[in-house]
Amino acid sequence: MSANVYPVPDDIAKGALIDKAKYDAMYKQSVEDPEGFWGEHGKRIDWIKPYKTVKNVSYDAKDLYIKWYEDGTLNVAANCLDRHLEKRGDQTAIIFEGDDPNVSEHITYRDLYERTCRFANALKSMGVAKGDRVVIYLPMIPEAAVAMLACARIGAIHSIVFGGFSPEALAGRVEDCGAKVVITSDEGLRGGRSVPLKRNADEALSHPGVKSVEKMVVVKHTGKDVAWNDARDVWYHEVCAAASTDCPPTEVNAEDPLFVLYTSGSTGKPKGVLHTSGGYLVYASMTHEYVFDYHEGDIYWCTADVGWVTGHSYIVYGPLANGATTLMFEGVPSYPDASRFWQVCEKHKVNIFYTAPTAIRALMREGESFVNKADLSSLRILGSVGEPINPEAWEWYYEHVGKKNCPIVDTWWQTETGGILITPLPGATDLKPGSATLPFFGVQPALLDNEGKELTGATDGNLVIKDSWPGQMRTVYGDHERFIQTYFSTFKNVYTTGDGARRDDDGYYWITGRVDDVINVSGHRMGTAEVESALVAHSKVAEAAVVGVPHDIKGQGIYAYVTLNAGEEPTDELRAELVKWVRKEIGPIASPDFIQWSPGLPKTRSGKIMRRILRKIAANEYDQLGDTSTLADPGVVDDLIDNRQNR
Ligand code: ATP
Ligand code: MG
Repeated sequence: MSANVYPVPDDIAKGALIDKAKYDAMYKQSVEDPEGFWGEHGKRIDWIKPYKTVKNVSYDAKDLYIKWYEDGTLNVAANCLDRHLEKRGDQTAIIFEGDDPNVSEHITYRDLYERTCRFANALKSMGVAKGDRVVIYLPMIPEAAVAMLACARIGAIHSIVFGGFSPEALAGRVEDCGAKVVITSDEGLRGGRSVPLKRNADEALSHPGVKSVEKMVVVKHTGKDVAWNDARDVWYHEVCAAASTDCPPTEVNAEDPLFVLYTSGSTGKPKGVLHTSGGYLVYASMTHEYVFDYHEGDIYWCTADVGWVTGHSYIVYGPLANGATTLMFEGVPSYPDASRFWQVCEKHKVNIFYTAPTAIRALMREGESFVNKADLSSLRILGSVGEPINPEAWEWYYEHVGKKNCPIVDTWWQTETGGILITPLPGATDLKPGSATLPFFGVQPALLDNEGKELTGATDGNLVIKDSWPGQMRTVYGDHERFIQTYFSTFKNVYTTGDGARRDDDGYYWITGRVDDVINVSGHRMGTAEVESALVAHSKVAEAAVVGVPHDIKGQGIYAYVTLNAGEEPTDELRAELVKWVRKEIGPIASPDFIQWSPGLPKTRSGKIMRRILRKIAANEYDQLGDTSTLADPGVVDDLIDNRQNR
């Protein structure tokens, strides 16, 4: 654990929406009187019929239900668009930054509203009605946001499949949700290379299991020629041109589904997470405002893809519900070179920047010169999400990107949680590098031992949440039993996150990794994050992943996969040095038994390390890798198998 503490900077505290005293008071109210708290904050969005009941929840696995604002009605798209028109019709809603650095576009709220209405009418004319499923398989272009909002406008349920997924992965998801329409584009562009989305979609829809799709809508993006099925395919621009901009929003119940989204697949087969409308929007918009200390006029950029929950809550729904200007970036951090993120920050004068540890580690590996090239003086708040951020990477982000002026919000949450649960608030929370710090309003984290007993004080354990919050998922689409099994049966009457955490003397939470990844060396239980962070703290190491491996004497030994900084030589001396280094940083118990040089690590397409695969390789069980459909680069795995250390 890092020993450094960074107090809230004075100038941030002065202007912040929430200071320390306010955080304490609001947090206290939120857990002592959830109904009162959420009854009041539910009013931050517009309701067609106001709710009378705020919360109706049972975490009892035998009789489980989660309902928020259940007698209220609303329309999510109207909250993101219509209600802003009067005051900010001409304000930019979306800044689009293309893969090509010469391409960008500003879309106003009025323009986004009109595009959404047209496409909503087009979907209606294809027979899409409330409750129907629509799969969106698009690059990071404004049409992705339009498609989401158009579905929301007519009460259809969208399910976005990340544009980097294969035809098989797409087919599985289309089949699972029984989509009536699939929306794609001729091609996508990433890092100067084109991705054949239409061709992938054609292949996916030819799978024998996929029977539900009636129409495919195709956005003309690169202009590439594509195969065409006259009976099924329509051009986005043609159906929109033919449609009217007048599309009254459909009234939906707070508990009507808004979207289905599959988890990243780090730990196994992805789960189809279902989120509903009212509570989700309240929670996404409120967390967006307070966690990022969002102020009127701020330019806000979240680098996630809309194919992940971060893109749903913090590119589209949260920011737009708040009337913010949100940046959508089509490209990758390394194209045309490793200064792209910073160039975009400079170009659009970004104030709030939210990215993932995987990107920070990759850019850190390339050195500071790329950051120093850009003028980053507009930045005020930085954020991190997706994995534990190693203190070393945190410090680099803080110093070189934030120039020691910008608080970093390390936001812990999951697809399942709909929004951020554990996080600093810029004006209220002193920071400790590597800690997600304290719970957001209404969130009651607890640490349990393996028998389910709640632990108190400074300790580590299984991270659970004791009560519901409005943004919580409601079910696994089409498999309610899996929902109950996965989240409500390991421990009774709590939501089980599957993550482990440590709480320190100040009550700060440190996510230690997945519970399934915990390593047990001679009876000492260790989270993966701590050992990995020790390795990354070495000046020659860029990234590391550790897993447990069967060991005759210790029960489990530690097997480390290490990626070196650009230009470093992998030698036996360095290997010995790293073992010594970890002994010194943590203690002899954490000494790696094996270190394998790994030019690349297996990651999900959202950039998370897949330790379950590394565990199998380390155990020489590489014929049992499990579900690898969400792997970003399967080639990495073959290389690791060829170079394993303990054959
Ligand atoms: P699957 O559930 O299919 O295995 P996944 O858990 O990776 O995939 P997501 O919902 O995208 O799918 O990721 C949530 C997980 O990411 C969390 O449970 C946690 O392990 C990790 N995570 C997210 N943010 C943070 C953070 N700030 N610090 C530490 N871990 C984080
Ligand atoms: Mg998960």
